[in-house]
Amino acid sequence: MAKKQFKAESKRLMDLMINSIYTHKEIFLREIISNASDAEDKLAYRALTDDSVEVKRKDLKITIVPDKEKRTLTVSDNGVGMTKDELESNLGTIAKSGSLQFKQELERDDKAASKVDVIGQFGVGFYSAFMVADAVTVISRAYGAEEAWMWQSAGTDGYTVTQCEKETPGTDIIMHIKPNADEENYDQYLETYKLQELIKKYSDYIRYPIVMEVEDYRQKEKPADAGEDYKPEWETVKEWKTLNSMVPLWQRQKSKVKPEEYNAFYKEKFGDWQDPLTVIHTSAEGAVTYKAMLYIPSHTPYDFYTREYEKGLQLYSSGVLIMDKCADLLPDHFRFVRGVVDSQDFSLNISREVLQHTRQLKVIASALEKKIKGELMKLQKEDREKYETFWKSFGTQIKYGVVAEYGQHKDLLLFWSSKEGKDTTLAEYRERMPEDQPYYYYACGESAEKIAKLPQVERILDKGYEILYCTEDVDDFVMRGLGEIDGKAFKSVNDEDALPQSDEEKKMAEEKAEAGKPVLEAVKEALGEEVKEVRASSILKSGAVCLTADGPVSLEMEKYMRKVDGDRAARAQRVLELNPDSAPFAALQKAVEAGDKDTVSKYAKLLYGQALLLADLPLEDPAEYAQLVCSLMV
Ligand code: ADP
Ligand code: MG
Repeated sequence: MAKKQFKAESKRLMDLMINSIYTHKEIFLREIISNASDAEDKLAYRALTDDSVEVKRKDLKITIVPDKEKRTLTVSDNGVGMTKDELESNLGTIAKSGSLQFKQELERDDKAASKVDVIGQFGVGFYSAFMVADAVTVISRAYGAEEAWMWQSAGTDGYTVTQCEKETPGTDIIMHIKPNADEENYDQYLETYKLQELIKKYSDYIRYPIVMEVEDYRQKEKPADAGEDYKPEWETVKEWKTLNSMVPLWQRQKSKVKPEEYNAFYKEKFGDWQDPLTVIHTSAEGAVTYKAMLYIPSHTPYDFYTREYEKGLQLYSSGVLIMDKCADLLPDHFRFVRGVVDSQDFSLNISREVLQHTRQLKVIASALEKKIKGELMKLQKEDREKYETFWKSFGTQIKYGVVAEYGQHKDLLLFWSSKEGKDTTLAEYRERMPEDQPYYYYACGESAEKIAKLPQVERILDKGYEILYCTEDVDDFVMRGLGEIDGKAFKSVNDEDALPQSDEEKKMAEEKAEAGKPVLEAVKEALGEEVKEVRASSILKSGAVCLTADGPVSLEMEKYMRKVDGDRAARAQRVLELNPDSAPFAALQKAVEAGDKDTVSKYAKLLYGQALLLADLPLEDPAEYAQLVCSLMV
């Protein structure tokens, strides 16, 4: 019998398939099983619509038989089967359905190498068998037909179709598994444990049972007449086992799923040992149809803030996994969410590139973002304890998002409140705000305790105003990015104009600054280039000294950049603020008036050192500072 040639594009595709060197060969099984499932579906549908078809849905199943001696893996179904013509047109050329898109892509881009990943991720249906098999035999008998046909091919050189025997309708796909190669372990596709693993991973939710004979090692039943010294005996038992769970949890009605089931699914699927914080089970019908089950973990994954962490949701098409981590379904600020999306709107063979640009994906992604946001806001309002757990784990990520997206989702933010002594939202802060309060106030530092003791915090608190204590590196950026809410801006307590001054207050401050000028100039001279300016402070109340910054780089930014860049970090332009009403200022004045340059220099260095310490910045010369302090004691 003469060999028939594959259609040209099929041949090219097979070449690519067989010679590709990627790591996802294992998806062939998913492809072959989902074809079997389609065949069962088609027959089940016929039974519904045609009385002459006597098939019970419960009899439909998919059978897996590995044979190590013959090196074959057989996937059988009792679905519709194929006639001789169908074998030729379906397997002799690329199916007109899902694979078409891929074929078109392939024609657009001739660089086969660049497509390797596409195949790896999605496979192209039936042909993917050739990734692990050097020959494939298909024996099929169409439902209602008497004769059966055998299709055989050993790759790109063509195929043959011959008549054969088959007792019942359906299809056997017999894959002659390749011998092991250098880097490739093909033997594993003949091992029941590996097959079980792959079926669990990719085909768990196929709606027909996938059965395979597996060995079980277990204790023999204790005989009724066993004596006292009976020792349990073990035996190896072979039994047929259904490997897939068939009904996806997300396809079930929300009200019928128990919390334990949601949690068990999460832990098994995403490899977490802790229950999730919350689950969002949602669906939509209409322009796009999908079901989704999303989880918010209760703790930060160990690799969350590293490059290794990959965001994304599992994407299924009618119960068949088509992508493990679909990144485009999640915005970066919600990258901690784990879950699955199942939509019949995607074809099994859709490539990553095409998928990315589909309208459906965008619609689903934006609907899910709203759902996640809604769930988080609900937690924030109704279960603050849970929300705070969430915040501890992923608050930093949300803050990055707020910075990157110019304030989007700012209602998720929490900051420590000086007034409440606990975390608060911006809305809650706003509600407590006295009518005359001009700004949202914030202060940055290492811890709430330390910030509370900053000299520049005092005058704001004394006014009865609340301050948000910011203790994370990113906070300063967040606050600057927030701009205004309902006409109220965000103000650092370090800002000179943080409290509006009356004309009288302004005049008094100017007078004081004028009077203190000789002192300020003397201190500046003593410190030289260390500071950009020495000024009479209007942000201090009882404290004598503090450090602020002029220009675009704040002290907080400098600290952050020090962590990242070390000593090469950009420096803030430092301003030493002195309180003209304080005793140290008076002491300085005395020394200046007496022309005692040595003492002025000492005092200036002391005060500058203190300002650095208060601002959590390192002293340039700690030894000198220690000596200065000691010299005051003797
Ligand atoms: P797709 O599944 O996207 O159509 P495939 O390459 O996976 O593409 O399969 C090609 C065609 O071969 C299918 O559309 C189907 O008609 C036929 N086919 C494959 N496997 C079977 C099977 N087990 N039973 C019946 N028909 C099958
Ligand atoms: Mg298919």
